[in-house]
Amino acid sequence: MEPPRRREVVLEGNRVVAPSVHLLSFRTAPGDILTFDPGQYITFFLTRAGKSVPRSYSFFSTAGSVDRFDLLIQQVPDGYGSTLLCSLEAGSQPVLPALAPLGRFLLRPPGGREVVFVATGTGVAPFLPMLTALRAQSPGTPTWLVFGERHREDLIGHDEFLAWTKAWPAFHFLPVLSRPPADGSWKGAVGHVQETVRDRFPDLSNAHVYLCGVPEMVNETQALCAKLGCPNDQVFVERY
Ligand SMILES: Cc1cc2nc3c(=O)[nH]c(=O)nc-3n(C[C@H](O)[C@H](O)[C@H](O)COP(=O)(O)OP(=O)(O)OC[C@H]3O[C@@H](n4cnc5c(N)ncnc54)[C@H](O)[C@@H]3O)c2cc1C
Repeated sequence: MEPPRRREVVLEGNRVVAPSVHLLSFRTAPGDILTFDPGQYITFFLTRAGKSVPRSYSFFSTAGSVDRFDLLIQQVPDGYGSTLLCSLEAGSQPVLPALAPLGRFLLRPPGGREVVFVATGTGVAPFLPMLTALRAQSPGTPTWLVFGERHREDLIGHDEFLAWTKAWPAFHFLPVLSRPPADGSWKGAVGHVQETVRDRFPDLSNAHVYLCGVPEMVNETQALCAKLGCPNDQVFVERY
């Protein structure tokens, strides 16, 4: 694994992909190759009132040795860092000081177990490179993505993940909405990801479970996994 290093990255693209969520595309400085593993993240050092303010974001693009990468950032109401980053203009190619790669939220060899990924919001970000790697390394492993959001339009990558279920038979996508459309058009699960995990996985003793999102969801689902028979050392978490 590459040790983390201070580097400067340049914003090349900034696109809204869901309400309040931006896909930011970066390139590294000329000659700087960044090697990261699926699940890792980058920390930016933003400046506020003369002080350095660190903010971390998971890589949302295929892992490896790269000179370009994407991040998925939710603009948090009144959030200093996310508002600043989401308002940057790609055309002016701003340069940002950062430290990368960071993080121990890594994909483990499944070793014959099924793999369940559970995310809410931009917690889905590290799962894109993880799923891509798992599919390449172990395509026969039964793999689930439980992805919760409030509204249908918040479900980033919904159509792409559905398409994956056709091209990757071992992959199952379980989108969950807490506020489905009133017109009855939503055919997926309703409620919170915790309820879907409880209903769909009565026995998690032979699973690896990856949880990523806001601490409340991660903590509740982690406790639930224990009740469903999943040993602690088979549950891997990243709290935003
Ligand atoms: C390892 C790691 C990886 C992360 N990866 C991502 C990522 O890929 N994408 C991403 O969008 N974020 C990610 N985060 C969260 C990110 O680092 C910031 O915490 C987030 O952008 C908020 O920072 P801010 O400066 O905008 O808000 P702040 O100014 O720090 O907070 C403002 C207020 O908003 C609240 N708040 C903070 N976050 C949220 C939230 N998510 N929802 C609702 N209220 C919130 C705070 O409690 C506070 O009251 C990650 C965090 C960690 C630790």
